[in-house]
Amino acid sequence: MELMPKADEGPNSDLPEHFAAEGGLVSGASSASPPSLSRYESQKRRDWNTFGQYLKHHRPPLSLARCSGAHVLEFMRYLDQFGKTKVHVAACPFFGHPCPPAPCSCPLRQAWGSLDALVGRLRAAYEENGGRQETNPFGARAVRLYLREVRDLQSKARGVSYEKKKRKKPPRPPPEHPNQHQPPLPP
Ligand SMILES: [Zn+2]
Repeated sequence: MELMPKADEGPNSDLPEHFAAEGGLVSGASSASPPSLSRYESQKRRDWNTFGQYLKHHRPPLSLARCSGAHVLEFMRYLDQFGKTKVHVAACPFFGHPCPPAPCSCPLRQAWGSLDALVGRLRAAYEENGGRQETNPFGARAVRLYLREVRDLQSKARGVSYEKKKRKKPPRPPPEHPNQHQPPLPP
């Protein structure tokens, strides 16, 4: 594919290496930087530029005005090549295994949470850049359905639950410390 970047290319490529490096597509978990410049805002701007680059390289040519939800899906699939999340295929022995004990040849994908956050940022950016809400391709039903599908699939394949952690922790069995056998206290 003509858009295929080299993994170790320098930062001057016009391709979205920020997706592959420095956790660009990793949803903002880092809170190391001061809140002076919003991490969300700068990430949104970078995402918007990346999408602009994607449109620019698109064959056949594609203008923003003609973008549909289907093109957003295409964009997300394109981004999968920069993904860093192992998603096991059903035939893999580690399917559903959250911590596989060995490597396998399953593909790396964009994690659902990253895509979900990305679409949210691009949806906002689209309207901030003059797009109309009614025609916002990032808000298309097909995009919502795709994201839900990805979430369910990755949840199964990785053995990871994406439910919000609202519930209380399940009661744990009383701890046993096999390495800490202590003699019973004298009466
Ligand atoms: Zn696997």
